Parts: sequence; structure tokens; C-alpha cells
Amino acid sequence: MREPLFTPANRAPQLLEVGGDPNSVQDAREAAALHHATALALESAFTHGIDMPVGAVALRGAEIVGRGFASDRRLGQPILHAEVMSLFDTKFDVAGAVSGTVVTTLEPCTQCQDYLATQPGLTRVAFGLSRADAASRGLVNHHDETIFERATRVSLPYEVVQVDDAHLRAVGLTILDNIWRDTGTGAIRVDTASLSLALADY
Ligand SMILES: [Zn+2]
Repeated sequence: MREPLFTPANRAPQLLEVGGDPNSVQDAREAAALHHATALALESAFTHGIDMPVGAVALRGAEIVGRGFASDRRLGQPILHAEVMSLFDTKFDVAGAVSGTVVTTLEPCTQCQDYLATQPGLTRVAFGLSRADAASRGLVNHHDETIFERATRVSLPYEVVQVDDAHLRAVGLTILDNIWRDTGTGAIRVDTASLSLALADY
């Protein structure tokens, strides 16, 4: 299913557009996409509560052509992180082509960075929260190298950007602040009651 990026409920990022400035159009699209990806992360948290609540969307121009959330624990397949799920979803798009941009709520792990590198036509990867945001909360292992540093070192074939949106960052951190990871089993637990209470402030 194709879905327009800007909807009546998601107009705010469009305000980032400065007439004729292609960079501002790109910023607006990626902020709108992060908005959708954040909704997918919340869907994961509230409907399953098993995986890290990370959402991702695949874009072709101003259309969303793929959407997904991390499902590796739910489906028992370690590769099924949000980025991969969103690209699998594009396979059902009638055009069938891989989209140009993937936008995810959390800095992609190295496994996903390498998977994304195998996708023809993927030129850009944008994310919301950094891995350090999740690592400082004990949710993922700390990595010494950021995706920006690794992209340079191993020459990842796409551009990497972090979406600069204070509101979406605050929502993203609120999600992380209401989940826990069992260090023994690796299982994620979502406190849905406290999460919905915290989200009521937005
Ligand atoms: Zn990953």
C-alpha cells in the first residue's frame, strides 16, 4: 500500500520547507517520515511489547512504500529489525522497486547498515535517536563507533543523516524511558501504562 507522506494529521514537518530549497524539502520529508516511523514504534510497543520499539519507513520520493517495526524476537529471526521489515514491505508495492530512502527511529545497528548497503537504489538513510541514547539506558550494547564514523571507514554506499526534530526526539526518548531490557534473557518489557501516561503530555 502506498501512503502519502504528508497527511492532514502530519502537516507540521511541511513547515520546514523553504520555497525552492531542495534541502529543506528533504528535511521536511524525513521529519514527516520519522513521524510515521515513530507511530510504528508505538504500535510495536502497545500491540506486541516484545521487541525494541523501533519503527522504520521506506520512501520513494514523497510516498511511503514500505513500513515496519522491529520483529526479531516476535518472529524469532535476528535479522528482522525495523529497517529490514520496512524494505520487505516494499516488495509488496506494485512498482516493486526499492525506495530511495529509509527512515528509522533509532540509529541502525551494524547488521542493518550492511543489509541496507546491499539494496540497489537506496541512497539515503535517516534516523531519529542515536545508538548512544539507547545504550545509556541499558537497552543496546554500547558501540565505540557511530554510523557516521563507520560509514566513512567502510564506505557505506548511502548518505547518513540524523533527523533534527526536537519534538520527535522527545517522543522517542519517552518511549525508551518506558521500556526495560532483561540483561539475562535480552527480553524487552514495555510499561504500557506509564508510556501512555507520559505520551499524554504530547
Ligand atoms: Zn538493526
